[in-house]
Amino acid sequence: MNIHEYQAKALLRSYGIPVSDGRVVLKAEEAKTAAGELDGPLWVVKSQIHAGGRGKGKFVEPEAGEKGGVRLAFSVEEAAEFARQMLGRTLVTVQTGAAGKQVNRIYIEDGSDIERELYLALLIDRKSSRVSIVASTEGGMDIETVAHETPEKILTITIDPATGLQDFHGRRVAFSLGLKGNQVKQCVQIVKKLYQLFVDKDMDMLEINPFCVLKDGNLKLLDAKMGFDGNAIYRHPDIAALRDETEEDPKELAASKFDLNYIALDGEIGCMVNGAGLAMATMDIIKLYGAEPANFLDVGGGATKEKVTEAFKIITSDPNVKGILVNIFGGIMRCDIIAEGVIAAVKEVGLKVPLVVRLEGTNVQLGKDIINKSGLNVIAADDLSDAAQKIVKAVKG
Ligand code: GDP
Ligand code: MG
Repeated sequence: MNIHEYQAKALLRSYGIPVSDGRVVLKAEEAKTAAGELDGPLWVVKSQIHAGGRGKGKFVEPEAGEKGGVRLAFSVEEAAEFARQMLGRTLVTVQTGAAGKQVNRIYIEDGSDIERELYLALLIDRKSSRVSIVASTEGGMDIETVAHETPEKILTITIDPATGLQDFHGRRVAFSLGLKGNQVKQCVQIVKKLYQLFVDKDMDMLEINPFCVLKDGNLKLLDAKMGFDGNAIYRHPDIAALRDETEEDPKELAASKFDLNYIALDGEIGCMVNGAGLAMATMDIIKLYGAEPANFLDVGGGATKEKVTEAFKIITSDPNVKGILVNIFGGIMRCDIIAEGVIAAVKEVGLKVPLVVRLEGTNVQLGKDIINKSGLNVIAADDLSDAAQKIVKAVKG
């Protein structure tokens, strides 16, 4: 789960980590008052969306002006004008996809005078199963580009969970970033607190880009991106409350409410499968026969009829879906439950695309009978290969 920059900065502030003072605004009318509460003489007006690259992004609507999603303003009036231009408009960045994202919140910050932009991140390194710290002097840039073109400019340190973060880790980060004197001390404290926050809140990603040396010599975090482990959110009601559902794929959101493992993809064949392994195999075989899956969906082991109905509705609500493949191997999941769920969903939302059903396992005959008697226009399949071929043929001709 991701949160907005202004929410991430509130968390950083609560741990005593240096960030700028700022105000979030939801309506253009609030912008002038909000900016007026900050000292100036520089204001940073920042679009809040769950995607990076905002500064270099472009708005779809001409009314939003030529500048990107992060703008420097030199008066309260200019800050308010930028907020008005950006609110409600669609920002396209390298991370949003071509459709872009609507900006519904603006964060106005007291601007800082930057000397140097650095990069600092904490993440879960799956290879070592530990928290890694990544630091680079190349802040303000896309870190993937730095990693590709100048990997020697990236320092990675892995933290042993038994000892936790030690001062020497912080000093190694500071020296690699070319920090001097009191900055080294500040850096050690910042890295220590970031690690504590990361562990306390079960984060899986914390990216500070840029991490800045200011003209006055102090360090400050000017951007923050945070991701949290979805499986641990139940332990953090304070973090769960920060969820902004408008930033999420509506289909994935509906699926999460029904505890379905669903991921939207770009293809044309909707899949309803039980078990993650079978779902992966189903996607592979669809590709093998020349089409692309529109989603990954594992309805799970002991799904109810309601859950199956909801899953089917989510698949059919996707306009890219040109055909549906239901592939069930009934173990704990019973085939008759799947059949009832599919029929209930079709009764509710209709069926405008071809549907291939392959059932096998527990109560298979009962399941097939239910579908046959329903009068639904279903293409029956005998095995996985047969099912995939039939749905690809039905869609592609
Ligand atoms: P991103 O483009 O989504 O990563 O948004 P950032 O928050 O990183 O802002 C983009 C760029 O705006 C930064 O790399 C900085 O160069 C600049 N910027 C952000 N905050 C300030 C600030 O307080 N003062 C100045 N002078 N520039 C800033
Ligand atoms: Mg940034």
